[in-house]
Amino acid sequence: MRDLTKKCACGRPAILLRRYEGRYYCDHCLSKQIEKSFKKTTGKNHLIKKNDKICIALSGGKDSSSLLYLFWKVFRQRRDLKIFALIIDEGIGNYRKECIKEAEKLCKKLGIKLYKTSFKKELGITIDKVAKKTSKTCTYCGVFKRYLLNKKARELGATKLAVAHNLDDEAQAIIMNVIRCDLKRFERLGPIPGVIRDKKFVPRIKPLRQIHEKELYLYAATNSLPFCSKECPYSHDNVRRDVRKLINDLEEKYPGTKIQIVKFYDAIIKKLAIQKKGKLGHCKKCGEPTNQEICKACELLERLKNTKKD
Ligand SMILES: [Zn+2]
Ligand SMILES: [Zn+2]
Repeated sequence: MRDLTKKCACGRPAILLRRYEGRYYCDHCLSKQIEKSFKKTTGKNHLIKKNDKICIALSGGKDSSSLLYLFWKVFRQRRDLKIFALIIDEGIGNYRKECIKEAEKLCKKLGIKLYKTSFKKELGITIDKVAKKTSKTCTYCGVFKRYLLNKKARELGATKLAVAHNLDDEAQAIIMNVIRCDLKRFERLGPIPGVIRDKKFVPRIKPLRQIHEKELYLYAATNSLPFCSKECPYSHDNVRRDVRKLINDLEEKYPGTKIQIVKFYDAIIKKLAIQKKGKLGHCKKCGEPTNQEICKACELLERLKNTKKD
């Protein structure tokens, strides 16, 4: 084994030990590595095409703030591209409001236009109200958020919707779908989830899916990006929490586990070549893309209407 000192190869003080590489990184070299990974994922998977209008889904947290900053840093010279951001207020006390402030600061700093919308305005409901009717808050919130992000991005003329899923999110999603034996959702993971051709569907891209959550935190912090680190008060999805712990324990014991899970997924999905087969219809109620008669968002809204308050 190599003799490790707490200095980066460049001589500067280290802020991170990448255990799966056995290498220490300083803030500069880590930023460079992250930018390299971002470029590699976008390039290798052809995530960005000429004249793309990219809508970045912001939450105000470290991941999406880093995503926006990376787009700005790497692509701001590209005159053919248009980059803007979108943030959704789910209506969770003051939680998102504080994050929106950070998102506004970042967008102002980079000169990127930020669009805002809310569950209340678009769906007539808040997550605080949903939580009073069901314990599956995260499911409802996730469905509504995907629904609105697609709808709004499309209305804003986006040709791509960039989301900030990191390596940890991706590895967790893969294992969760294995546990639930959900092949449909499993197929939809990957760098361009659900590459489905439909004029109402904005393809979602995930340029951060090869980057560790911990490294994104360091990236956001060392580049002085405004972000909020509050956790959603409703985030107690038991399965995800357990899977996260399981994968983190494995990573600790066997460095590189997260990368291997995602690599294994990519290899399988290529072999199965099932990603591009899907075709979408449109919801009979709202007209948004769906593979069912009624889309999931409309189904859940209807279910909420019929649920009596406790
Ligand atoms: Zn260095
Ligand atoms: Zn619908």
